[in-house]
Amino acid sequence: MKRRPFQLISTLITNSYVYGLFAGEIIYRGPLKYFCVPSFNCYSCPLAIFACPIGAMQAVAAGFAYQVAFYALGILAAVGAVVGRMACGWICPFGLLQEYLYKIPSPKLPIPRALNYAKYVFLFLMVLLLPAFLVNEFGVGEPYFCKFVCPAGTLEAGIPLPLLAPQLRGQLGAVYAVKVSILVLFLAWMVVSHRAFCRTSCPLGAVYSLFNRLSLYSMSWNATTCIKCDECYKQCPMGLKVYEGPNASNCIRCLKCRDNCPTGSITYSHRKLHSPSPVSDTNPI
Ligand code: SF4
Ligand code: SF4
Repeated sequence: MKRRPFQLISTLITNSYVYGLFAGEIIYRGPLKYFCVPSFNCYSCPLAIFACPIGAMQAVAAGFAYQVAFYALGILAAVGAVVGRMACGWICPFGLLQEYLYKIPSPKLPIPRALNYAKYVFLFLMVLLLPAFLVNEFGVGEPYFCKFVCPAGTLEAGIPLPLLAPQLRGQLGAVYAVKVSILVLFLAWMVVSHRAFCRTSCPLGAVYSLFNRLSLYSMSWNATTCIKCDECYKQCPMGLKVYEGPNASNCIRCLKCRDNCPTGSITYSHRKLHSPSPVSDTNPI
């Protein structure tokens, strides 16, 4: 099954508020905005019709101290429990953008494995802890990841909103310049390194990655037929070797490895209870 149609249709559906561009309503605020998509798509994008789960988690944590966005977490947990990190590979608009950017001819660079852990710092520190605990005198925090880091927010909202609403341009300051600089750095990194943001920095990917070893649908690898040709590694957008652990937390279940394995050693199916995988999941990332 081809992924590209799923990625394109998902991107178009989540960013389909074209009406607002003509009606002078630069952000859709209708009832669909209460629903979180299970992918990374900025709430404030002029075309967005759904909420971003990472934005929702920060908004709730920041607005009412010590509360967690159980609703957003529930959606992510339900998706993660069934398919693990598959949403990153099949429906995320920002993942699709990175796949197109990596097609630009350029020298290609590997990503040090240690950087894969940065996304957990972003998730726990900037999405959950700081918005809840770094608050003003009224007990209200800020969405720190959205405000200071998120390159998807800058690309989808930070740049188009001032273009569509000139009255916003006077509010652009040093933080805006920092965010645009971060966006430029990430875009350049995405050209030279495959899915650089997903692998290192995405807090949504960090949430889903916790489910890869537990999800109903999972990857399997057959040690007896594998010839260690590394074709799976060459094709993998996340830099993974399936034989080191078929359900590594960074696997986005794009299934490129399965489709290109010359010996058919990789499969994707629902877990058989009481039937252990042919290999233990030893790969930590
Ligand atoms: S592509 Fe298949 S045979 Fe080759 S190393 Fe990967 S799992 Fe083994
Ligand atoms: S291990 Fe296979 S399914 Fe997972 S990201 Fe790499 S190519 Fe895709």
